[in-house]
Amino acid sequence: MDFIAFSQLCEHLEGISGRLEMIDVVSKAIPPLSEEELPVFVRFLMGKIFPDWSPLKVGIGPNLLFEAVAYVAGKKKGDVIDEINRVGDVGIALEHLLSSKEQTSFFSKSLDLVEIYRDFEYLARIEGTRTQREKLKVIRKLLADAQPLEGRYIARLLLGELRIGMGEGNMRDAIARAYQVDASLVEHAHQLANDLGEVALLAKTGPDALRTVVIEPFRPVKMMLAQQGTIEDMMKNGGEVAAEFKYDGSRFQFHKTGEVCRIYSRKLEEVTTALPDIVAQLSRATDHDVILDGEVLAVRDGRTLPFQYVLRRFRRKHDIDAHVEQIEMIPMVFDLLYLDGRTLLDEPFHVRRELLETTLRAHIAPQVRSADPQAIEAFYRSALDAGHEGIMLKAPDSRYSPGVRGRQWVKIKPAVDTMDLVVIGAEWGEGRRARVFGSFLLACQDEGELLPVGKVATGFSDEMLAEIYALLKDSMIAHSGKEVTFEPGTVFEVGYAEIQQSPNYRSGFALRFPRFVRLRDDKSVDEIETLEQVKERYKKRITPA
Ligand code: AMP
Repeated sequence: MDFIAFSQLCEHLEGISGRLEMIDVVSKAIPPLSEEELPVFVRFLMGKIFPDWSPLKVGIGPNLLFEAVAYVAGKKKGDVIDEINRVGDVGIALEHLLSSKEQTSFFSKSLDLVEIYRDFEYLARIEGTRTQREKLKVIRKLLADAQPLEGRYIARLLLGELRIGMGEGNMRDAIARAYQVDASLVEHAHQLANDLGEVALLAKTGPDALRTVVIEPFRPVKMMLAQQGTIEDMMKNGGEVAAEFKYDGSRFQFHKTGEVCRIYSRKLEEVTTALPDIVAQLSRATDHDVILDGEVLAVRDGRTLPFQYVLRRFRRKHDIDAHVEQIEMIPMVFDLLYLDGRTLLDEPFHVRRELLETTLRAHIAPQVRSADPQAIEAFYRSALDAGHEGIMLKAPDSRYSPGVRGRQWVKIKPAVDTMDLVVIGAEWGEGRRARVFGSFLLACQDEGELLPVGKVATGFSDEMLAEIYALLKDSMIAHSGKEVTFEPGTVFEVGYAEIQQSPNYRSGFALRFPRFVRLRDDKSVDEIETLEQVKERYKKRITPA
């Protein structure tokens, strides 16, 4: 497939607002694709370059990209940034700049979808001292060959900014429709393989191929998530529930085959080198090949430390030994997804738990099972007394559903309602905060699109603002006056007094009195509040305490 045809399809999809029409258009574009093109096409349309399990990243920030565009367009980098600020959209701005490009490549040729993927893969694999220079060379060459419309989508793909509304749900349905297979089969295979590109290839072969997918060690699967709920609701149908403490740490997935161990964060980034103490504790506790799901906690003198300590360690790249000595980290394991070659996701939770108890010699999160709401209430109170966030209630007969925030796992915590939203912009602070960002524009998601819902400027300590500045400073895309736009990636948990309908924000809603609660850089953009959930909260008029 020529990349120009792909770009034209993206442009066409951007003009469609109906979900069904979008799925229809994509499902018709799928069947003619070759085996090589299909996975790339599927991932690119969702704005992804590599499979979700893959550790590869192209590693091109806005700065490097703008430098390459400036070179190709024969402009100064400042002019590129001015154009982005003027148009307010990176893709369109680059498209304009490329239409006036002076530096056409010597071997100018039409771009091919799979070749572009290979260039991206090469970018991701460049290492060493000359990394930046080599990366710049590759992007310059790519952009020099690109037609303006192609430039729009290359830029958006590189910055993770495609957002044309083809989220995982729409893509799953388009694949199912294209190959006349059941969407639930596609979904199931996707949960195990964690890459819709590969799943599309299996769907092309047929439903039996989709049924053969298993989990593979060192290909992390998405974490199962929890809904907010009440003990009463979870227990109203009778029967036992499994209750565990809700630890205020950070999620991990641990993979081990023989002597080889790797550990992944909630965003499925590999954090093995940052957590050598956790890896050592877990590998000592079992002789089996396993995939474990759990939470890392920081402790001092037997008390759990705030979750921010754990996140800082996950982020750490240097001086790890010193930190291992300073702050003790321990794993709490609550699920087993794979054991000695066997995928356990479809086994009921109580079976996985029994296997976990015979597989791991230590670090298993305690569990209480009961059909008596009063016993669970008592457990909840004991959890709060012990300083935990609350409890998790899990259905003993439920399967492990990666990436699903369903009713099978329910979190019970005191009524401070918060939302996880992504930071898409900021304003510089004032006075003694003039060198950091002071207020932040936040967005929820709707099938891959990011829609603003409010600005938060309270609840930050100076130390936190400095930490946030360090996280965001390299992802600035554009600025205009005091306002800055970011490549979206950083998630905040915010509290609020009320949700109102509002014409001021594209989501149609605005948070009243939002306040920063904490940094959630363990969460990815895919995990933030959806527009649907914001609407639900508005309808229920949840007014948090
Ligand atoms: P939330 O981040 O508020 O959606 O709550 C879900 C998170 O609680 C999970 O992603 C885990 O990181 C964390 N958690 C703490 N304890 C448990 C537990 N016992 N079972 C499952 N998740 C837990």
